[in-house]
Amino acid sequence: MKVTVIGFWGAYPEQNSATSCYLLEDENTKILLDCGSGAVSQLQNYINLWEIDAVILSHYHHDHVADVGVLTYSRVVDMNLKKIDRPLQIFGHQDDFPAFQQLGKEPYAKAFPYNDKAPLKIGSFTFNFHKTTHPAPCYAIKVQSADGGTFVYTADTSYDESLLPFIYGVDLLIAETSFYEDQDARPYGHMNSKEAATLAAKGNVNELLLTHLPHFGNHDNLVIESKKYYLGKVRLAATGARWTNNY
Ligand SMILES: [Zn+2]
Ligand SMILES: [Zn+2]
Repeated sequence: MKVTVIGFWGAYPEQNSATSCYLLEDENTKILLDCGSGAVSQLQNYINLWEIDAVILSHYHHDHVADVGVLTYSRVVDMNLKKIDRPLQIFGHQDDFPAFQQLGKEPYAKAFPYNDKAPLKIGSFTFNFHKTTHPAPCYAIKVQSADGGTFVYTADTSYDESLLPFIYGVDLLIAETSFYEDQDARPYGHMNSKEAATLAAKGNVNELLLTHLPHFGNHDNLVIESKKYYLGKVRLAATGARWTNNY
């Protein structure tokens, strides 16, 4: 499988970039994890919008869902132009049912619920969910590919050791890192660099990708700070950054 960072900002997109969105692919399936502001424009540097099979949303904060509506409009256009005959599948949790109900637009986009009780299968991928600690109901997402690769996207969360069994031993942890080491992220429901790295270290993950980055400070310091607490490979998310296990 292959993962491409489409957007890595928290809050809002800075110029020519996007907030949270990750493109997950194998030979047959293309899936988005979150679809934040600016994602639809950025995605077209990598794929045609009609190729997207499904979108899985961690939660309903704007920096994770802002472009779901316009992605749906692209499917309206592309189905009417006969570029594709399949609706966009949008997966969301139902902890905020009114928000979930907004997701579908039949027959162009269909909304499906996920929960943390049962795995979700799309193509050759299996997804599991774990509720995080965040002001809005939010789920971390674990992805397993048929070839044995695994990664976890924390989505938005404050430091929470209940995530450890969920992330344990994965090939990659995509961890939100909204603040620097000396800042208290907990009141905002987020993690700082020390907390993201500590999660990676205690979770014995193989590699750490820092994302959901702040609009202040020098991001390189997030990597320097993380390396004090986690000895594996640490990378900073960037537009177009790719990770693959064997694709
Ligand atoms: Zn966010
Ligand atoms: Zn959030």
